[in-house]
Amino acid sequence: MEKEPQRTIREVIVEGERGNLLRVEDLQAMSPDEWGMLRDSISNRHTGGKGISMLCMKCKHPVYIRAYKYFGRTFPGFVHFDGSPTWCQWYQGKNRTPDSLKAEQYGGQQESPAHELLCKKIGELAALDKRYIRHTINKYHNPQYCDNARRPDVYIEWEGHRPFAIELQLSNTYQTEISGRCTYYSKEGIPLIWVLYAIHEYVSIPQSIKDVVRRHRNNAFVIDRDSIRESYSKNTLVFKRYLLTGDYFDFPELVTIDSLTVPENQTLPYHEDHLAPALRAKIDDRRKPFFHFFNEWGKKSTPPEDIKRILNTLPEHVPEDFIFMIAAAFSIVATLSAGRDINYASNDPNVRAMLNSYFNGNRLARYADMMEFILGRIRPKSSTSPNITTHAVRKNITLRKSDTEQAGIETNEWRAMEWLLPEVFDECERELLRFTDQLPCWTQY
Ligand SMILES: [Zn+2]
Repeated sequence: MEKEPQRTIREVIVEGERGNLLRVEDLQAMSPDEWGMLRDSISNRHTGGKGISMLCMKCKHPVYIRAYKYFGRTFPGFVHFDGSPTWCQWYQGKNRTPDSLKAEQYGGQQESPAHELLCKKIGELAALDKRYIRHTINKYHNPQYCDNARRPDVYIEWEGHRPFAIELQLSNTYQTEISGRCTYYSKEGIPLIWVLYAIHEYVSIPQSIKDVVRRHRNNAFVIDRDSIRESYSKNTLVFKRYLLTGDYFDFPELVTIDSLTVPENQTLPYHEDHLAPALRAKIDDRRKPFFHFFNEWGKKSTPPEDIKRILNTLPEHVPEDFIFMIAAAFSIVATLSAGRDINYASNDPNVRAMLNSYFNGNRLARYADMMEFILGRIRPKSSTSPNITTHAVRKNITLRKSDTEQAGIETNEWRAMEWLLPEVFDECERELLRFTDQLPCWTQY
C-alpha cells in the first residue's frame, strides 16, 4: 500500500477577542512546559473544563496539540479533532479513537493487580493519621457540581482537612482521561494527587507521565519503599517528591500531605512550584531593559542610537516613533501596578494627561485602536488607583481611529506588543498565566 503524503497543520487561530495566529514553528519554539500546558488547556476545554481553543487556519475546525517523538526528542504539532472536513488542505486522515488506544494500552484489562495493592496501601497509610475519618477505594464519589460521577482510586477524609483524591498513574493514561479527571476534581474543589510508582525504572520519561507531573507544577509524587517507611514513622501519608527538569527526575525529597500547596484554579497540589516562576520571569526579562531605558531617558536628552538599540531587542522591526507607544503602554502598566501615577512617555503629570495630548495630536494616531484594546483589557488594582483615561481621552481615541489608518493585528507593531505585553495581547501567554494563577492584578480576563 502506498503511503499517503504527510500533511501537517501549519498555522492555527488561537481564539480570543481578536485572536492570535500561531505557526507550528512558534509552537515548536516554546519550552516543553509551555506547549505542554497549552495542550492541557485545550484538552481541559474539550472535556468541559476551562481552557483555550485553537482552530485550523484552513478549515476552522478545532485542533489539539500532539507530542511526536523524533530521534528521541519530543516535539509538538497540531492535529484536527475528530470530524474535520476531508477537503481541508491539511486534513490528516481519521484519528485513532481514545477507546481503541485504551484497549491497546491496558491490553483489554482495566486494572492491574499492582494497582489494586497500591490503592490499598495508600488507604492504609492514610488511616495512620490521627485526623483520619474514612477512605474509599475505587468507589463512586457523589459530585456536587459535575453531572457524571467519577471513581477516585483512593478518596480520603481527614478531620479539619479538605477531602482529597489520589489517582495512581501506572500505565499510559490517555491525555483526555487525565484532563477529564483533573477538570472533575477542580470543579468539585477536591485536591487531586497523581501518584507514580517505581519511576526510577524509566529510561526516558514517557509523555503521559510528563503530562501529569506538569499539572503538579513539575512535581512527581511517588510511592515507594522509602515513602512507605516514612509514612509509618510519621504516622501520616508521605510521598517521595521528585522535580521534573527537562527530561529527568531529580531532587527527591520525602514530603507530607500537609506540606503541599493547593493552587486556586486547578486543585493539583505541589510541594515546590518548579514551573510557574520561569514563565513569569521570561516576560519580566523582556521588559526589564525597556523599564530601565524609560527610567533614564527623561533625565537627559536621549541620542537616537539609544532608541534604535532598545528597539532592536524586539523580535519585529518597528518605526522609531513606536517607542512612544511602548512608553505609553508601560506607563499604564506601571501606574496600575504601583497604584500611583507614573508617566514615562511625556512631561505631563500623569497618564491621563499624557494620553490626552498624544491622541489629541498625531504622534500616536496610528495606534489609537491598539491603545483602545489595551484599555479594554486592564482594570484598576483598587478603588484608590489613579484613573487611566478620561472622557476626553476616549473621545480623542475614537476620532483618531476614524481619521487615521490604524496598525492592525497583522502589523509588526502589533506583534511587538504581543511580545512585550503578552498579558494583554497574546492569548496563549494569557492562558499560561491564568493556568498557573499568575495573571497580574491589573489584567482583565
Ligand atoms: Zn483544517
